[in-house]
Amino acid sequence: MEKSIFTRIMEGEIPAKVEYEDEQVIVIHDIAPKARVHLLIIPRKPIATLMDVTPEDLPLIGHIHQVAQTLAKKLELPGFRLINNCGKEGGQEVFHIHYHFLAGFTE
Ligand code: AMP
Repeated sequence: MEKSIFTRIMEGEIPAKVEYEDEQVIVIHDIAPKARVHLLIIPRKPIATLMDVTPEDLPLIGHIHQVAQTLAKKLELPGFRLINNCGKEGGQEVFHIHYHFLAGFTE
C-alpha cells in the first residue's frame, strides 16, 4: 500500500505543526482549519478507515479518546467535537484513519 500523507508527515518527509505525540499517535494542526482549533489525531498504525478497525485495535481507539481529553486540558478548552469521516461516502479524503478535534465555535 502506498504511504499516506500522514505517514509521510510522521516520517518527517512533509512538514506539519505538531501539537502532541506519543508512541501510538501524532496530533497535528489541520492545514485547512474549519474552526479556531482544528487538530487531527492520527494513529501511527496506518489503518485505512474505521471499517478496518479490528478488536485488537480497540485499545488504540480508546487511547484516541484519552488524547482528546489531554488536548482539551492542555489547550484549556471547555468543549470540543471529535469526528471521524469514514469512507468516500462519509467525506473521508485521506485513507489513514484520523479523528478531527474541533473547538472554539462560540468565539
Ligand atoms: P478527511 O476528509 O476526514 O479525510 O480529512 C482529511 C483532513 O486532512 C482534511 O481536513 C485536510 O485539510 C487535512 N490535511 C490534508 N493534508 C494535510 C497536511 N499536509 N497537513 C495537515 N492537514 C492536512
